[in-house]
Amino acid sequence: MGSVGAKEVPVLLSPEGLRIDGRKLDELRSIRIVAGALHQADGSAFVEWGANKVMAAVYGPREVHPRHLQQNNKAIVQCRYNMAAFSVDERKRPGLDRRSQEISKVIAEAFESVIFAEEFPRTSIDVYIEVLQANAGTRCAGIVAASVALADAGIPMVDLLPAVAVGKVSGAIALDLKKEEDNFGEADLPMALVPQSGRLVLLQMEGHMTRDELAKALDLGVSGCRSIYEKMKQALRDRYAGGTEVAA
Ligand code: UDP
Repeated sequence: MGSVGAKEVPVLLSPEGLRIDGRKLDELRSIRIVAGALHQADGSAFVEWGANKVMAAVYGPREVHPRHLQQNNKAIVQCRYNMAAFSVDERKRPGLDRRSQEISKVIAEAFESVIFAEEFPRTSIDVYIEVLQANAGTRCAGIVAASVALADAGIPMVDLLPAVAVGKVSGAIALDLKKEEDNFGEADLPMALVPQSGRLVLLQMEGHMTRDELAKALDLGVSGCRSIYEKMKQALRDRYAGGTEVAA
């Protein structure tokens, strides 16, 4: 541990270029995706990603509530991202804070750009994301879970939506930050990719990167998304080819 002022800062990068959990800079945490994990929802998925545990449930297309949000020419996509009070070390105050509202909004917008909403006028497609355990990258884990849940619900989409955060730790660009790297690193750049077209439909940034670092981070993120995409497709194959036993 090094120290800056009163704060203990962990050593994020070893002299050999390994990270706090032994990963290389371009290495993802382990990811497990189970499609169809809930009985009541129209579609669902559970994602374990490093120490993150995230459940997504999708309902719809169904009647719009509140009614005045209804659109005559297409479905609306509503999303609620929520972190459970017990999901983090210091108990999080329950309920939708500004952070959750912002994340819900950007996730809904990301899905609006891939769902064929015009096929279901006057309806709502409702996406619920519950973070049960958080260790950075929960919005990306939420997008991955929700995307598989939307496919599980049979909602027509351009493509699945893999997502990952890239960041900067000890001056190096690193794929898929964990909590200490997110807290003590210099930048965090979550993104979601439409693999077919290569289009990014979510891109946020906290911290600072140079133009060259940003280019490198985008490349690393896109290749990370492509690996996650394969795992998402496999989860759906397992569910529908009967390869994986699920509780639903
Ligand atoms: N976090 C927390 N309490 C909060 C919000 C976040 O402990 O109220 C932690 C949690 O581990 C989360 C991480 O900080 O995953 C990073 O949060 P950020 O806002 O960057 O979103 P995320 O990386 O989870 O998408």
